[in-house]
This record gives sequence, structure tokens and C-alpha cells, in this order.
Amino acid sequence: MKVRCDVAPVELEGDYVAVVEGVCATCSRCGHETESYGTTDASVRRCLALLHDECPNHEDNYYFDPDEPATCPGAPRGAYRRG
Ligand SMILES: [Zn+2]
Repeated sequence: MKVRCDVAPVELEGDYVAVVEGVCATCSRCGHETESYGTTDASVRRCLALLHDECPNHEDNYYFDPDEPATCPGAPRGAYRRG
């Protein structure tokens, strides 16, 4: 099934600097959170991929950020009208 995730910008501790901008994705089904450095689409996709790997429910879900249609790699924006 498709699972909506909350994606929010966060400040993470960096190795060389005190604070690094990142993103945090929260699974809407179980509340599990993943964090990734950077605020680009790639960072968001990484968070969603981590949710798939780490979700305590071990469900084979498709995680997506409803606020960011561009997170589907390679798909034209219009493709989102299906399903
Ligand atoms: Zn979950």
C-alpha cells in the first residue's frame, strides 16, 4: 500500500560543523522517523527509502511525501494523477 509520510526540515549534528541542515521523514502508520543530511529531493528520497528498510512493521509499502510530487524518480508530474 502507499503510505504518506511527513517530511520536515531538521537540524542535524554534523561531523565537522555543529549543525547540518537535513530532512526528517515520519511514517504516518507507525510514527517511525528517519533522518538524512541535506534538503534536496535526493535527501527526501533517501529518508523514504530508509523508512522502507527500517519500518518496524516490516511492510512492503511505498512511502511518499504528499507535499513533494517530484520525489518519484524519473516520473513526469502528470503521472501522479493515476492512483
Ligand atoms: Zn511504518
